[in-house]
Amino acid sequence: MSKYWSDAIQRLTPYVPGEQPKESGITKLNTNENPYPPSPKAAAVINNFDTARLRLYSDPDCTQLKDALANHFEVERKNVFVGNGSDEVLAHTFAAFFQQEQPLLMPEFTYSFYPVYCNLFDIEFKLLPLGDNFELNLEDYNQPNGGIIFANPNAPTSRAIELGEIEALAQRNTETVIVVDEAYVDFGASSAVELTQKYDNVLVIQTFSKSRSLAGMRVGFAIGHEDLIAGLERVKNSFNSYPLDMLAIESAVAAVEDNDYFEATTKKIIETREWTVNRLEELGFISLPSKTNFLFSTHRYIEAAELMGFLRTKKILVRYFSKPGIDNYLRISIGTQEEMELLISTLEQHPDICKMPTES
Ligand code: PMP
Repeated sequence: MSKYWSDAIQRLTPYVPGEQPKESGITKLNTNENPYPPSPKAAAVINNFDTARLRLYSDPDCTQLKDALANHFEVERKNVFVGNGSDEVLAHTFAAFFQQEQPLLMPEFTYSFYPVYCNLFDIEFKLLPLGDNFELNLEDYNQPNGGIIFANPNAPTSRAIELGEIEALAQRNTETVIVVDEAYVDFGASSAVELTQKYDNVLVIQTFSKSRSLAGMRVGFAIGHEDLIAGLERVKNSFNSYPLDMLAIESAVAAVEDNDYFEATTKKIIETREWTVNRLEELGFISLPSKTNFLFSTHRYIEAAELMGFLRTKKILVRYFSKPGIDNYLRISIGTQEEMELLISTLEQHPDICKMPTES
């Protein structure tokens, strides 16, 4: 606290990201990063970059990247917005569309950055409960609102809903913006990008941080009706003209264009996820049905906080949220097959874990 802070700054509760450890030898399963490197084509762009070019500013409109995304998603450039990670795209989205008379609606358990932006931009919000098994029911969102946001698949619960449910919501809710945060969509859910062509109030936000292995480059994007995109551009151009640097723009272009690599790595992660679900089940865990690159798992007898601490002593990081309602769950990112084998063999060393016989 400082006397120089404005009242608004004093009231903020900033987001706390997962730990990025400085020590070596850590197995990081706590921030849903991709365990595989980015596409070799993206790496080549970076390795061959002519640093003399850096004396110039990067393209403020990121035209090359917007065109690559427009091509990939079969939309037009005017339907694409890009930003410094999807966190920045989300921040601009909250500023552009959610400062309304009615509250923004969002699930009780979802990406914990959303309430932080509400705080920053003074947006009233209402949390709607999930079902008993953390299902998202969009019927509950039939009420006055200044906007609706949810992640599909949701985080940290890993569950996805069907596109038909989102379309039914878009048909009912025509007066405010519906934002679908698809940070994890490539690991098994259906994207709502096609709905953005039919409904002018549906905005889809995605990231290069997960399925494209470029978390460190900070590239995110939104797809929607040109008027929504123009609104985002107004906020962006009132904040930072050059949010993406040249390396970010050009490596992201290469990553979007390398679809074969993207498909191969996402497939491997999905296979490893299914292997891990089964092994964890044998050790007494129950995991929610995941369409993401992480699992949301609880143990039948051992408390999640205890298991998180135990794994920490063995140099394996997983994410734990002490929030009531989810405080007996671990969010475990899917690493390489070897990393997940290490996780399982380490859990087997916990004194209270016993291996249960499997059905088959
Ligand atoms: N949305 C969700 C649901 C996330 O989990 C994350 C990652 N923490 C983000 C958005 C932001 O990702 P990035 O800023 O790296 O694009």
